[in-house]
Amino acid sequence: MLEERSAGAILYRESPSGKLYLLLNYPSGHWDFVKGNIEKGETFKQTTLREIKEETGIIDVSFVEGFENKVEYYYQRDGELVHKEVVFFLAKTVTESVEISHEHLGFTWLKFDDVMKKVTYKTAQSLLKKVNEL
Ligand code: ATP
Repeated sequence: MLEERSAGAILYRESPSGKLYLLLNYPSGHWDFVKGNIEKGETFKQTTLREIKEETGIIDVSFVEGFENKVEYYYQRDGELVHKEVVFFLAKTVTESVEISHEHLGFTWLKFDDVMKKVTYKTAQSLLKKVNEL
């Protein structure tokens, strides 16, 4: 079985109507938080900062201490089963404008309830619930 490791963040900003969370539309169609594959020698947080910059253009990012959660899933790639683990942090930005890379189809900043409806996978819903409990 192939093994894949990524890291990412539940990235939010404060708005007049409360916290807004960033979601990206992945090429395979799903909506999820920003994340990406770990490159050799990187820490999870370094990967997360690099991916946020590459995928959204956002560079002011501060991690909320005490939040680190791992998500796990399996998927098929070219007929082979992939076991994937993604470590997610909670992070804050003050930047509203997003410049997505060619790797994604779109983005949106949404309130908690709307994120719950928009995300494709239960893993993302569970993560957001943990953020809310914090
Ligand atoms: P990365 O952002 O880590 O570079 P990627 O864009 O290469 O990732 P994924 O987002 O992991 O790929 O998607 C790979 C496959 O796994 C897709 O078929 C997708 O539908 C599926 N997938 C993605 N996230 C989940 C999840 N949380 N639970 C189950 N399946 C998922």
